[in-house]
Amino acid sequence: MYLGDEAWPDLETYFEEESLALVPVGSTEQHGPHLPEGTDHLIAEALAREAANRTGYLCTPTVNVGVSAHHRQFHGTMWVSPPVFRDYMESLARNLTYHGIDRVIFVNAHGGNVEPLREVGKRLHEDETAYTIEWMWDESIPELVREHFSVPGPHGGPKETAMIMHIANELVHEDRLTDARDGGLVEWGAGSARQFGARTFFDAIDNTENGVLGDQTDATPEKGEELFEAATEQLCNLSEWLAGQEYESLLPKEHV
Ligand SMILES: [Zn+2]
Repeated sequence: MYLGDEAWPDLETYFEEESLALVPVGSTEQHGPHLPEGTDHLIAEALAREAANRTGYLCTPTVNVGVSAHHRQFHGTMWVSPPVFRDYMESLARNLTYHGIDRVIFVNAHGGNVEPLREVGKRLHEDETAYTIEWMWDESIPELVREHFSVPGPHGGPKETAMIMHIANELVHEDRLTDARDGGLVEWGAGSARQFGARTFFDAIDNTENGVLGDQTDATPEKGEELFEAATEQLCNLSEWLAGQEYESLLPKEHV
């Protein structure tokens, strides 16, 4: 069920009977020369809407702009500051609790949102308002991602390229895939851009001239469909699991 499509009287039964909501969260930021700026929010929304359709749980409208200032040197990147984002997302989750929701899944597709979203979860958990968790799609299917791509790349790489090929193929510039790889940084790992253990960069452009990390030339719509199906299944399972928990069991434990 998609909240934005419903008239208010038709939501009464849902809020009476269910207590879970899916909130898609993405970004609007450069994703290399070959992918649209909406890549992250397109992925988050497609997964959340599909999981909501399959399970019957409620999906809210998508939060399209997130924490992306580290991509600001590229045309069009939009962002809000982390404290503003955190407060906005906290307020949005509290809004849902007013209607009777007490557990929320932030269906996330942007790394920069992870920490603020977890902080929101922590705040709401501490004051026992709601149980709110962050779910990052690619982290739900790490083996499949590794199986398909030699260099998955954290940003604008083949996993995101394949997903957009599946979700909105007309927005992918397939003729730019090779240039995207050659003009960016292919190998990116835990030890990248560090000196004696310290992270030595602030912005994406410090590491990659065209904004891309990874090798997207082996992305295909078929691989995208497989990733999409597997991640959707994980999200459906997570939703069912969370909806099935006793609320008391989700609250902070007592002091020993
Ligand atoms: Zn992305």
